[in-house]
Amino acid sequence: MRLVFIGPPGAGKGTQAKKICEKKCIPHISTGEILRQYSKDNTPLGKKVDEYLKKGELLPNEIMIKIIKERLRQDDCQKGFLLDGFPRTFEQKKALDKLLKEINMEIDKIIVLTIPNNEIIKRLLGRARIEGRKDDTKEVIENRIKIYNEKTSLIVNSYKETDKVIFIDGLGTIDKVFQRIHKNL
Ligand code: AMP
Repeated sequence: MRLVFIGPPGAGKGTQAKKICEKKCIPHISTGEILRQYSKDNTPLGKKVDEYLKKGELLPNEIMIKIIKERLRQDDCQKGFLLDGFPRTFEQKKALDKLLKEINMEIDKIIVLTIPNNEIIKRLLGRARIEGRKDDTKEVIENRIKIYNEKTSLIVNSYKETDKVIFIDGLGTIDKVFQRIHKNL
């Protein structure tokens, strides 16, 4: 099963993604997690990535597309995968469509987790206290929501042309939201 998981920051995407991947035995490909790993390296690339993450800005499409191209060609992705955090821009979606064609694969479902803006801010400020993520300050959160609304939500519109999109209400307990997703897969 090949899944794309889309949702605003704080919608609970990471948590739900892990649960889906466990259930379906597929690798969880989170570009945010890959980048957070890079940002720990004391290398020019690591430092550059860290700058973007701290501001909540999107990394250049070329870098992201390269990361995904390399990752999807690895052996564990042959049985399926869940993409969490990619594509986030129209260019990334186009590149993904092209890559999938090249490697003869198709996405089965696009899961879109929805959640109101005020709930996003509340959740992310809570997460900042618990996990200490550098990009969970109020200013950066607002920037990440703005980017989501301006760029990422457009991808949802273009996926809507297929009949593969599932909208899931992200409000409720972790188990409740997971049940909603699971029922649809
Ligand atoms: P996430 O964990 O998915 O919320 O991602 C954390 C941060 O990583 C984002 O705010 C961006 O700075 C960066 N990032 C993750 N995925 C992408 C992507 N597909 N394109 C550009 N930047 C990304």
